[in-house]
Amino acid sequence: MQYKMEKPVKGTIETEKYQCTIEWRNGQIIADEPASLGGKDTGPDPYSLLLSSLISCKLITLRMYIDRKQWDIPELTINANLYQETKNELTTSYIDCDLIFPAGVPDDQRVRLQEIAKNCPVSKLLQGEVKVRMFAFREPETKTIRYSTEDVTVEWKPELCQHSTRCWKQLPQVFKPTQKKWIEPDGADKERVEEQVKRCPSGALVFIDNKKV
Ligand code: SF4
Repeated sequence: MQYKMEKPVKGTIETEKYQCTIEWRNGQIIADEPASLGGKDTGPDPYSLLLSSLISCKLITLRMYIDRKQWDIPELTINANLYQETKNELTTSYIDCDLIFPAGVPDDQRVRLQEIAKNCPVSKLLQGEVKVRMFAFREPETKTIRYSTEDVTVEWKPELCQHSTRCWKQLPQVFKPTQKKWIEPDGADKERVEEQVKRCPSGALVFIDNKKV
């Protein structure tokens, strides 16, 4: 199992209603709610962000395809909106996407591009089975157990560990839950160990490069 993104998307909210700072690989964006819901509309709301993700995935996929085919289509636009219907206590969400071509695009290209857009990676994700898993952790910490080699120390805080299984499923050479000394930091190269430690959802793991302390 491998995550799609090397670095998770991180969101933080403080007391300012309802501004969230979303940190992504190479910068930040702000999310908010409109004034009608108590926010200040300083950034897109969560539904708009969801639609933005879908639209951008479709447009990028289309541009890649058009460039590969060397078709002369200088611009494409997609408008998207959503609504929900509840029947027999089951809510179904509908996302309608309107793909707008410039004048002069031949019918066969238009039909093909409509099909390509329909099957972009984010569409497939939204239409497949999705499980949103939530791991919670708290800041205070108590006991810390250290596992060291000459080069590397991995600290583990058992009271924070959510037993998500991420570490030992993704890097079993290092994380061995059936052993008493369950972390062997020399089981993989130190960059890989550091990367895995960063994926711990609870903050129970800390990586220390002994050469840098
Ligand atoms: S990834 Fe973190 S929370 Fe999950 S089992 Fe390992 S130490 Fe615990």
